[in-house]
Amino acid sequence: MPRPQVEPVAAFQRLKNESAFEVLARAAALEAAGKSVINLGIGQPDFKTPEHVVEAAIKALRDGHHGYTPANGILPLREAVAADLFERRGVEVDPGRILVVPGGKVTMFFAIVMFGEPGAEILYPNPGFPIYESTIAYSGATPVPVPLREADGFAMTAEAVLSRLTPRSRLVILNSPANPTGGVTPPEELDKLAAGLAAHPRVAILSDEIYSRLLYDGRAHASLLRYPALADRLILLDGWSKTYAMTGWRLGYGVWPEALFDAALRLAVNCHSCVNAATQFAGIAALEGPQDSVEAMAAAFTERRALVLRALNRIPGLRAAEPGGAFYAFPNIAASGLSAKQVEIGLLEEAGVATIAGTSFGAEGEGFLRISYANSLENIEEAMARIRHWLSDKGSA
Ligand code: PLP
Repeated sequence: MPRPQVEPVAAFQRLKNESAFEVLARAAALEAAGKSVINLGIGQPDFKTPEHVVEAAIKALRDGHHGYTPANGILPLREAVAADLFERRGVEVDPGRILVVPGGKVTMFFAIVMFGEPGAEILYPNPGFPIYESTIAYSGATPVPVPLREADGFAMTAEAVLSRLTPRSRLVILNSPANPTGGVTPPEELDKLAAGLAAHPRVAILSDEIYSRLLYDGRAHASLLRYPALADRLILLDGWSKTYAMTGWRLGYGVWPEALFDAALRLAVNCHSCVNAATQFAGIAALEGPQDSVEAMAAAFTERRALVLRALNRIPGLRAAEPGGAFYAFPNIAASGLSAKQVEIGLLEEAGVATIAGTSFGAEGEGFLRISYANSLENIEEAMARIRHWLSDKGSA
């Protein structure tokens, strides 16, 4: 009998992994072997989901919500999302344009496969969330990196995007506040971008605003949803994962232009049918219930951010720009003379601190390290001491 020779089609060679999950697995293995590891690698809040949200899901299960729901999500949830969009972004959105999906990533995947094909170009931030580049490549489209510069506070500039558009461009991906840098695109740049895009009517926009509730120093979130001229080609990505500490629930949503909604819905029907019902009820409770836990989390991140920046900038040879949002610092480690990957591996294996090499977020991340400050003040302080000692042992600090 011939041995089975099954393998995925060639496109799967281009589908990459997400380093954060690999580092998480390695950190867990080291801990299981008795090593102390402080995890500054993973991008998830270290808080519990608010109690009233958990209770809403339990109640939904007890009330018998065990079956499929409409593929786009239950109406009360989409209405709650629409009310939240009106309250926080000042824009009225028809709940019929909202597609509830299992996590923020799903809207990203749907948007990219909807516009990606051989010959097409898709612009994405680099350094940026690694799934953008991976999925673009998988789709067959050409990934066109838009470099984010430390000197600009890692904010995307309109010029950097507009100057890279060609007749082959089909989609531009924006992310503010950003992973992995914490960069925030200023409203003036969004104005310029929206104006410039008028000359490119074939280009769709995916605005990943999953960190919209995590902004510092009194910044207000500037959403691309506010530009009526873009409404018929803007896909807004948001969700519950970061705002309500609900990463494991798998709940997110996209606001789709009317003309694209049916295609997105068909993807949902072909892929996952719907988000589990109890989680959708939890999503309503999160949006409509008290927001004090969101505020408490933001206050904790503000304090940790100050500590991380102070500590990093005191380590000789390191330099960390102030992140305007999210919960990441992205220090420049180039003066260490080591590659980002060498620092990541050394810190994890020898110093017991999990971080992520900047290159895991694209080639432009060389010379940088992502530090997630979703950890306690004590752990952050200890991690900073370990980083300082490790770098000084390497003779680079
Ligand atoms: N977009 C960005 C920029 C992220 O950092 C993440 C998660 O880390 C996501 C989307 C995905 O969120 P979710 O866990 O809801 O799929």
